[in-house]
Amino acid sequence: MSSTAILEETLIKRSQQKKRTSPLNYKERVFVLTKTRLSYYEGRPEKKFRKGCIELQRVKCVEIVKNGGVVIPCQNKYPFQVVYDSTTLYIFAPSNESRTVWVQNLKEEIRNNPHIVAKFHPQFWQEGGWLCCGQADKLAPGCEEYNLFGDITRKPLPPIPGDESKSRRPPPPPPPEQGAPGAQEAEPQEEVVIALYDFEGAESQDLTVRRGEEYVIVEKCDVNWYKARNKYGKEGYIPSNYVTPKQPDNLEQFVWYCKNVNRNKAEEQLRNEGKEGGFMVRDSSSAGAYTVSLFTKSVGDGVIRHYHIKETAGSPKQFYLAEKHLFNTIPALIEYHKHNAAGLVSRLRYPVNKQNREAPTTAGFSYDKWEINPSELTFMKELGSGQFGVVRLGKWRALHKVAIKAVREGAMSEEDFIEEAKVMMSLSHPKLVQLYGVCTQQKPIYLVTEFMELGCLLNYIRQRRGTFSPQNLLSICHDISQGMQYLEENHFIHRDLAARNCLVNDSHVVKVSDFGMARYVIDDQYTSSSGAKFPVKWSPPEVFNFCKYSSKSDVWSFGVLMWEVFTEGKMPFEKNLNHEVVNMVTQGYRLYRPKMATPQIYEIMQLCWQERPEERPSFAQISLKITDEIEADGLNS
Ligand code: ADP
Repeated sequence: MSSTAILEETLIKRSQQKKRTSPLNYKERVFVLTKTRLSYYEGRPEKKFRKGCIELQRVKCVEIVKNGGVVIPCQNKYPFQVVYDSTTLYIFAPSNESRTVWVQNLKEEIRNNPHIVAKFHPQFWQEGGWLCCGQADKLAPGCEEYNLFGDITRKPLPPIPGDESKSRRPPPPPPPEQGAPGAQEAEPQEEVVIALYDFEGAESQDLTVRRGEEYVIVEKCDVNWYKARNKYGKEGYIPSNYVTPKQPDNLEQFVWYCKNVNRNKAEEQLRNEGKEGGFMVRDSSSAGAYTVSLFTKSVGDGVIRHYHIKETAGSPKQFYLAEKHLFNTIPALIEYHKHNAAGLVSRLRYPVNKQNREAPTTAGFSYDKWEINPSELTFMKELGSGQFGVVRLGKWRALHKVAIKAVREGAMSEEDFIEEAKVMMSLSHPKLVQLYGVCTQQKPIYLVTEFMELGCLLNYIRQRRGTFSPQNLLSICHDISQGMQYLEENHFIHRDLAARNCLVNDSHVVKVSDFGMARYVIDDQYTSSSGAKFPVKWSPPEVFNFCKYSSKSDVWSFGVLMWEVFTEGKMPFEKNLNHEVVNMVTQGYRLYRPKMATPQIYEIMQLCWQERPEERPSFAQISLKITDEIEADGLNS
């Protein structure tokens, strides 16, 4: 094979079809170019490791990708594209030189191809659109002249975020003089971020971060961890979700901005705080819009009003709230209304932001570290037990409360799980129970996860039966659909979504747990669809008949989970045995509408239970529908 290889190098390949932002979609592959093919392999360039291959005859265009400021979530920052048939393959080279070599050699091999494009797309296809021209059709014709014989890599490239100072850190550029020649070509600005929370570096490679302070991003190692530099020049890893870009229009840097807080949660927090003029700015149900939620005691025994932040038409757009006091930015508008009610029930006196006080979980305790030293764990009370064994409350380094699952001998395919644990750890979202790490150098092995004070959702709702409003129940479903939306975006299938596999923390946030773990259970009663423990009542026909799992089978389970929530913890198909449920569901029978569920909410459940998987909504659509229901009471302005 090597005798015919023109080039061979380990590069990174972005999965086709998938979303750009997930680190899971970027895989290292050994690429081999021969006279006829571009092949890629996992690990070694041998046939049995081959993951894919493109006949060069089918290639229509090879060119670098101008990244236009897009953050590339893998360590190789130099993308190029190979367009063939109706597909674009994105490949990331470790250096500009390596990329040039690949592009030039590939161009050389395809120069006599019959279907070379006249125009191509110089930037990425990303999340439903071409970044270069904005066209939303993947097959839309290119927007820039393609020159098979030219070398656009010789032209200056746009800056690569996070890569400016990888190997050599240039001295900070002198401030460009106004109007001085060459001012435009000054060194690219380094990305500056502001810390939203304190972070205590766990290892010597980490950087301790203080809330409110500024840091320079040196390298974006993956979506969860960045290498950053503090004001003293010290560098180290920090969790990416603890910082936010310092940009004038980024609301996240303001204490009053509560990302991802829905109307119910906003009302709950403002009421709990009980402060006159308590307020927050949150995302509206319509994308890109914001709402001010405001509490005042001046009406009755306290009311909450929600005001849309409106925008003027035309450009530059301006913002206003109740009356037409116009501002160029939202922070300016908020600042004004801190001092002037100007049509609101109260002025904005006191920012309320619960999430600002509670630091989120991190994807592991440190960058690239999944093995936890068991001697750093202390064990406290037993929390429960499940399929894999006993779960205990514990502490890591006597500081962080964690849940420790000790895996019973013979209960789990441990090797397979350990292989996958790294992927699971990189899944990090506020509505997923975080896997912090594993102890695999001993028996029993431990799984160390985020501790959820109020335990499993099923018990939580059963124990509090009669105390929930339909809005509370909808909020629970919203949390879960957000967690599931993230899994769906990352092409990760849960396989056993049910109320018993969600957990609740002391802020009453519900998170999805045990995702993907069903694959590692060793127990016929659980894994065989005719087994007594198989979750038939949560399964769609394609799962109980053919074990065909997908995000859409998770959607079915989510419908059943919504039903569990809206019945406050009833057993689905209470009076029926599993095999009866199989027959009933096959014949089109579905769970009834719970009393607490409005027809609109029941309609969401029914959509989840469409027989054909492709007719079920995605979690993204479900989240939107639930948000619409939550906001359905209308705004005050
Ligand atoms: P398994 O995966 O082995 O089936 P589970 O995840 O169902 O085990 O856990 C069993 C019980 O332990 C749960 O019902 C819950 O009460 C408790 N538990 C599990 N994980 C946590 C956690 N992270 N925080 C708090 N309690 C937990």
